[in-house]
Amino acid sequence: MSEKRGKHIAIYGKGGIGKSTTTSNISAALAEAGYRVIQIGCDPKSDSTTILRGGNDLPTVLDTLREQSRVRIEDISAIGFGGVLCIEAGGPVPGVGCAGRGINAAIELLQELKVFEEYKPDFVLYDVLGDVVCGGFAVPIRDGIADRAFVVTSSDFMAIFAANNLFKAINKYAPSGGARLGGVIANSIQHPYSQPLIDDFAVQADVPVIGYVPRSITVAQSELFGKTVIEALPESEQAGVYRNLARHIDENLDSVIPKPLNGPELKKWARTWGDRILAVETGVVQKMESI
Ligand code: ADP
Ligand code: MG
Repeated sequence: MSEKRGKHIAIYGKGGIGKSTTTSNISAALAEAGYRVIQIGCDPKSDSTTILRGGNDLPTVLDTLREQSRVRIEDISAIGFGGVLCIEAGGPVPGVGCAGRGINAAIELLQELKVFEEYKPDFVLYDVLGDVVCGGFAVPIRDGIADRAFVVTSSDFMAIFAANNLFKAINKYAPSGGARLGGVIANSIQHPYSQPLIDDFAVQADVPVIGYVPRSITVAQSELFGKTVIEALPESEQAGVYRNLARHIDENLDSVIPKPLNGPELKKWARTWGDRILAVETGVVQKMESI
């Protein structure tokens, strides 16, 4: 493998939880701070970098490799906001093959084309799907591609479940050179219980929460313009939240090996919150023994 340049960071999380939005805003904030950034969409959805590029489409690495025998970097990349180099790995033909192939093919091609040597990134961000538990999903953390992983979760149980699965994968691969966890990014904070619930899950798994991103209309508004919040509404509080996340990822290099909960532990923990959510939400403590 050629020499690795820059900090390589993988962002995981359940589908639809806000990975691409969060990753793109972090890329935009890092670029705004003067860093050279590459963002690689590793989700077959192939929309990771859309809001860095005015909402436009970008040919994926896998599609281009299927169509052309010789691929140049300009065929599969575009310069987005702040000079961020945007790449979409793409996916297999639906129903055939493994999503991990797209990630591997993309990384191999970037190495072959010497993109890291030539672009000299300070940061490479991999935006990875998180609810598939096949081997492909673990490629960036397993094969020495990323140094640190972060997980985006809301307070929804399915998102927590996906985060816990990532913890299991890190726990398995980190001791043999895989990525470690930089922390949890709590997204879509909107209920009084959202933050305490995510905090408590993080305590159970012995991992840090590195930031809390409110559910905000500024995100929807910016998305409709095909932009990140950093670009569309740079003075907003939400832009400040993303800048703080970017600063944390830049300045704080701490990482941990999580202690994932096993199935019964996770279920038991979730049930304690079934009671507490009502208590936090209404101020009334309810016993819901039937749950
Ligand atoms: P993923 O990449 O995890 O599949 P996306 O980043 O595409 O998820 O986000 C899914 C939807 O949720 C998008 O429409 C996005 O604008 C919205 N979204 C994400 N984070 C927030 C937030 N903090 N506030 C409001 N909307 C959000
Ligand atoms: Mg996405």
